[in-house]
Amino acid sequence: MSFTQLGLPAQIVEGVRAAGYSKPTPIQQRAIPIILSGHDLVGASQTGTGKTAAFLLPILTRLSRAALRAPVFRALILTPTRELAAQVEASAREYARFTDLEVGVVFGGVPIGPQERMLRHEGVDLLVATPGRLLDLNGRQSVSFEDVEVVVLDEADRMVDMGFAPDLRRILRLLRSDRQTLMFSATMPAELNQVAAEALRRPQRLDLGERSQPAPKIAQEFIAVTRDRKIETLSQILGQESTRRALVFVRSKRGADRLVRRLQDLGHKVAALHGDRSQSQRERALLDFRRGRVPFLVATDIASRGIDVDGVTHVINFDVPAAAEDYIHRIGRTGRMHASGKAITLTTPEEREQVRDIERLLGRAVDRVTLPGATDRSPAPPAADRGGHRRGSAPAGRDSGRSRTPHSAPSRGTNTGAERGHRAGSEAPARRTPVEQPARATATESDSEAHGRRRRLNPADRRSRRRM
Ligand code: AMP
Repeated sequence: MSFTQLGLPAQIVEGVRAAGYSKPTPIQQRAIPIILSGHDLVGASQTGTGKTAAFLLPILTRLSRAALRAPVFRALILTPTRELAAQVEASAREYARFTDLEVGVVFGGVPIGPQERMLRHEGVDLLVATPGRLLDLNGRQSVSFEDVEVVVLDEADRMVDMGFAPDLRRILRLLRSDRQTLMFSATMPAELNQVAAEALRRPQRLDLGERSQPAPKIAQEFIAVTRDRKIETLSQILGQESTRRALVFVRSKRGADRLVRRLQDLGHKVAALHGDRSQSQRERALLDFRRGRVPFLVATDIASRGIDVDGVTHVINFDVPAAAEDYIHRIGRTGRMHASGKAITLTTPEEREQVRDIERLLGRAVDRVTLPGATDRSPAPPAADRGGHRRGSAPAGRDSGRSRTPHSAPSRGTNTGAERGHRAGSEAPARRTPVEQPARATATESDSEAHGRRRRLNPADRRSRRRM
């Protein structure tokens, strides 16, 4: 089955090809026809399977079929974090690059003024937003929802986890009742079920891959460590040749900073990503990691959902996640799409219970691997041996260790003809492959300020814009 056979118009198929996709993923094959037919949808989605395009492509199709002379805000995508909002916006821009549709993003942590200007004076067809900032903009009468025909709640369980259920309800009440509503979520906590019951009308349900199961190509290992050997063990893993790009998860923001300092002392090139870092520090860390300038990123769970960085060879849980479901989300940052990846969890005896919860959720035992020197009882490796893994000495089940900017002054004249219909901000980088596209935004929704961006047209491009 091809994208054209799924009913997508030529200019969207062209955008998808430019993104490097040759055929739809199974999720896309199943979800796109349902969304095109106008049904509400609840998708239980496995991470890294092409879910974002599964909802963006039919929405862009719908918008492009009835594109209006000027942008009219008709599609809203809500996401839990800035990182995910920026990433979804970048994908939407990529897929819509051969249409006249305008795509924008708003989220907290940056000034709200440019976002207001974007919404009031320039307009968007599709807006990606985090809930708190969208409500701030609504409170300032900067956004009108009257034309919104389709809304997506992406990573809906995460939004509820983060305390956004009341905000979601408020936003949903502001929308037209005849809208189409799509909800994507890895899990269905009771509160989300309630929101879904209120917001969706006779939704079709799609189990887009087995829930609570990581992608099959991720090799998982638990390595027993003692607390005082943890950092050295991590350093040993990072020192292995095969560990080319690793995302290291820790439980706390302070723990992340501490670990980064220790790893730097040990000679590793590493950056930190967590909610206490400034906006620019977070942007820089993610960008450096994405572009391969820094091979290791130490992050709290803010980075565990939705973030799509190509070529992550390893996810390492320095701390076992407190909630078993976060384990699935964390390790889903590797083994994306067709790539394989390794997920290593360092487990101390104190984390026995969390380890048990993870295996219960997975429905199976994870391989135990021993690493010389990882526990104070195991012999430290001779220097030449560093990095050697030995598999399987601990029996499974035993706790041997059981892891745009609406840029205030948009530059004009930077776009190429191929980018017709989009608005490139003054900070807009040269066109990159989707993988290299920087997420220029990072922070939690609780941040009080906002950010938004949209690609801008240069005057010549504006004149040449075709509207149907
Ligand atoms: P997602 O599950 O939306 O986070 O997507 C995971 C990754 O799959 C992203 O890097 C997408 O760019 C990529 N992707 C989405 N659809 C396709 C496709 N049809 N073929 C190849 N890669 C895709």
